[in-house]
Amino acid sequence: MNELVQKRSLPENFPKKLILDSTVIIQILAKDWFLTDDCVVIVPANIKEELKSFESNLVLTLLESKKNIIFLMPSSFSLSNAVNLAKQAGEYERLSSYDLNVIALAIENPEFTIISDDNAIQNLCNIFNIRVLSSFFKITKRKKYYWKCTVCGAQFSKKLDCCADCGSPLKRYFRKV
Ligand SMILES: [Zn+2]
Repeated sequence: MNELVQKRSLPENFPKKLILDSTVIIQILAKDWFLTDDCVVIVPANIKEELKSFESNLVLTLLESKKNIIFLMPSSFSLSNAVNLAKQAGEYERLSSYDLNVIALAIENPEFTIISDDNAIQNLCNIFNIRVLSSFFKITKRKKYYWKCTVCGAQFSKKLDCCADCGSPLKRYFRKV
């Protein structure tokens, strides 16, 4: 047996109500503990647009065969909340519509935990206290973004189209907090 695809046992106290991000769904065949019957798993219903490779079609077929996996779409109200949080966190450009659905579903279902290896999702969740874990069970450090003018060096806490002082382009930086 290939050691890389051996079953992992679920850590104690691991949450049983999960929302799966696309980075994690790809790994699902290797980590079939996500599919144990005592877990309730939410997957955004637009997953088919997000997964395009042959391997991911196999994953999708597997997901659809499981009774404890629920395919859901968030309300448009939750989705616009998720978009607002993404913009405030400075992560909007890095998030796909699937990612935004993951966050919106977590807003609607606060007892669920997002499982994600995506930095943008993890960071947004950490800033706004949305439950998130990486598939390696780590909680990542929160990043605080700021934008700095490439010419005059002025710093801004929000993304602007250009420097408010001199009109030059801005570049994004972050510090860990
Ligand atoms: Zn400037």
